[in-house]
Amino acid sequence: MSEHSEEHRPKSTPHASESAEPTGERQAARQSSSPLTEADFVYLAQAGTLLVAVDFDGTLAPFVDDPAEARAIPGSLEALQQLATRPGTTVLVISGRNLAQLTAVTGLPAITEPTVGDIRLVGSHGAEPADEPMGNLSPERAQLLQDLTDRANALAAEDPGLWVEFKPLSVSLHSRTAEDAEVAARASAEYAEYAETQPLATTTRGKNVVEVAVDHATKGGYVERLREAMRYGATVFLGDDVTDETVMEILRQDRPDLGIHVTGEDPQAKDWTSAAARTVRDPHEVKEFLAELARRR
Ligand SMILES: [Mg+2]
Repeated sequence: MSEHSEEHRPKSTPHASESAEPTGERQAARQSSSPLTEADFVYLAQAGTLLVAVDFDGTLAPFVDDPAEARAIPGSLEALQQLATRPGTTVLVISGRNLAQLTAVTGLPAITEPTVGDIRLVGSHGAEPADEPMGNLSPERAQLLQDLTDRANALAAEDPGLWVEFKPLSVSLHSRTAEDAEVAARASAEYAEYAETQPLATTTRGKNVVEVAVDHATKGGYVERLREAMRYGATVFLGDDVTDETVMEILRQDRPDLGIHVTGEDPQAKDWTSAAARTVRDPHEVKEFLAELARRR
């Protein structure tokens, strides 16, 4: 789905290293996940301050062929909305989708100054929180992003088929549709060589693309920062995919935090083991969990 839609997944990105994990050793050290218990509901209902963070695809929404058509199971966003009105409760949906896509598929606004009752949206694996338009980029990295943008634009102007792709934390120069292969090769090489002199940049030379990232975001990094900044007493997170494991790994499970892994119809289909303490099966069970928590809290 959209979290995996990049055509050229570089070897050094968090995606690649995440999918290489967990190692056998780590798996062995983990306890196997179990279904939710009555004690979990009692605990979460009574937590003084609670962060409820939820992935979108495969967690709130079943997978569909066209990612643009993905929708949350009826009732699940309503349950999140109710939870957001409960005392001491913060609710966010965090996704690998960019913020614009996340807004489109949830039908929720990207609220820049969230208050009680609002669901917060966080896109691009934590790089695009709706309430922090500039993300968490340091001035040095922001400057580098600007330099890369200027250089890539200047180089792309040398051939009408060269084009530049912008993501929140990277700038890519694409050459597949270039009219002059020699010009394209020189422009690509120049862009990559410049980027490789920048200590903060991670450069990936792909087939017909040079991607330069100024930082990388993970869902876990975002949730951890938010949890520390807001001092939530408890955090509960629901997710189905390997990128969600970055959150499962930072949770203090199974108290005071709780990770809930959405296994999908066929848990054997995944070649990795979740670090989550609990499991639910599918977005229907996610909705039931959220509705029950909202009812009790
Ligand atoms: Mg997912």
